[in-house]
Amino acid sequence: DASTRRPFIAGNWKMNLDHLQGIALVQKLAWTLKDASFDPKAVEVAVFPPFTDLRSVQTLVDAERFGLAFGAQDLSPHDAGAYTGDVSGAFLKALSCTYVLIGHSERRQGHGETDEVVHAKVQAAVRHGLVPVICVGETEEELEQHGTSAVPVAQTKAALAGLPAGTPVVVAYEPVWAIGTGKVATPETAQEVCGAIRAAVAETLGPDDAAATRILYGGSVKSGNIAGFLRKGDVDGALVGGASLDPTEFAAIARFQ
Ligand code: PGA
Repeated sequence: DASTRRPFIAGNWKMNLDHLQGIALVQKLAWTLKDASFDPKAVEVAVFPPFTDLRSVQTLVDAERFGLAFGAQDLSPHDAGAYTGDVSGAFLKALSCTYVLIGHSERRQGHGETDEVVHAKVQAAVRHGLVPVICVGETEEELEQHGTSAVPVAQTKAALAGLPAGTPVVVAYEPVWAIGTGKVATPETAQEVCGAIRAAVAETLGPDDAAATRILYGGSVKSGNIAGFLRKGDVDGALVGGASLDPTEFAAIARFQ
């Protein structure tokens, strides 16, 4: 049940902050959390910088003072070879990434990533011991056509198909109409969809995995609205875009209680 799942606050920097700016942000974030006596055992905080920042962020996080996790924003479905521009899961694992975002709507829409591509990337992440943070969500048109849960549930089932029970995954429900728009979903809608996603995890990976899997809400999350989402039983955290670029604001989100 919800009490056994450690809340997860994830910051998706998107294509913002070069490695020097990334170092500055992580340092400020770590010190802000430390000053606030933040307990990393109670809430997990992770940042998702651009590829070019990962090595710099790793050296800071490695110092173990910071209690932060990190991951990449994408990976190749392939393991190695003639794939110009791709970055393999093995490279990410070698940098001690824990997580990797897969199927963010900006990749589904801007880079034509289908459910098949997302599935292949999830398989690649798992092959390399990375925890996929699978992003699902409906557009405004899909919302009008199919209602709230149909599209995110179908995307979740497609992404998880064929994975063995016991595979650690995170799912992030991000309604496309709420990303970067300031149009936030209500906690009730987030709960309804995250609950439906949890049922989809139960169907694919089984009931034990469904009880253990963290399901996040994303889309215009801020320190002023985070608490309402975390009070819902099936919402285990947030994937934060714009507000993760301000370390004071992101630390305030991490301290939602
Ligand atoms: P936002 O982005 O918080 O800026 O709406 C969320 C996301 O795209 O992950």
